[in-house]
Amino acid sequence: MFKIKPLKQAEVKVPLGIVAMLADMRYIVSGPVYVWLISDGEKKILVDAGIKESEKNSKDLGELKLRDALSGANVKPEEVETLILTHLHFDHVAYATLFENARIFIQREEWRSAMDPPPHYRGIYLPEFYLPLEDLDLCLVRGDRKICEGIDLVSLPGHTKGSQGLLVKTNGGDYLIAGDQFYSYINLFPKRVREFRDPEGIKLMPDLNIPFHPPGFHVDLSDWFESCFKALSLVKKDRVLPGHEPSLEGREFG
Ligand SMILES: [Zn+2]
Repeated sequence: MFKIKPLKQAEVKVPLGIVAMLADMRYIVSGPVYVWLISDGEKKILVDAGIKESEKNSKDLGELKLRDALSGANVKPEEVETLILTHLHFDHVAYATLFENARIFIQREEWRSAMDPPPHYRGIYLPEFYLPLEDLDLCLVRGDRKICEGIDLVSLPGHTKGSQGLLVKTNGGDYLIAGDQFYSYINLFPKRVREFRDPEGIKLMPDLNIPFHPPGFHVDLSDWFESCFKALSLVKKDRVLPGHEPSLEGREFG
């Protein structure tokens, strides 16, 4: 049976308003960038491919950090046989070409949208990261699709046109790796943070009485809410693994 390990590749700082729509843009929060290793001891499946980080001397720090994160789990990039990209935003795809032996799964709709992004996403889709994937074993899929026994792609549009998650069966039950459909638990459990205040006591979250709180970036909120309900039709709420949730660091699921 499979186990899921979120491996932290980098840490980014973003305004709270990126994590949660209409929240305070002056308040900065940290978010880990994860690549997700799914393994049963034999198969090595990876979800997402990290964020680029360069040093002044032009050393590719992000690649070193990705290799370190993987080697901490005894994995070399060339051993990964399946790479799932939840979507093609720059913080999920930077080192995808390192996985030269993997079959790479992306939603057809995401690929199409990345070629001509909506205006607010133009700076977030960087073709140099994903166009070279056409020379690798790229598989563009439409909608839900079985990868192997116990692992299924789940289409979750809303954050982007072709976002997808991964449903994984483990001995500890099913989990859904959600990509940025849910950036953190704030999007899943908005009532817990409704009274979130800064050190001066100023309220940071808007008063929205809604069951899910959308991230600040999206292409279609109706689709996004539909994808929330779809996610919860597959797994219990506490089995959803958000894309940049800090409390998942160092944990293992399954
Ligand atoms: Zn994103």
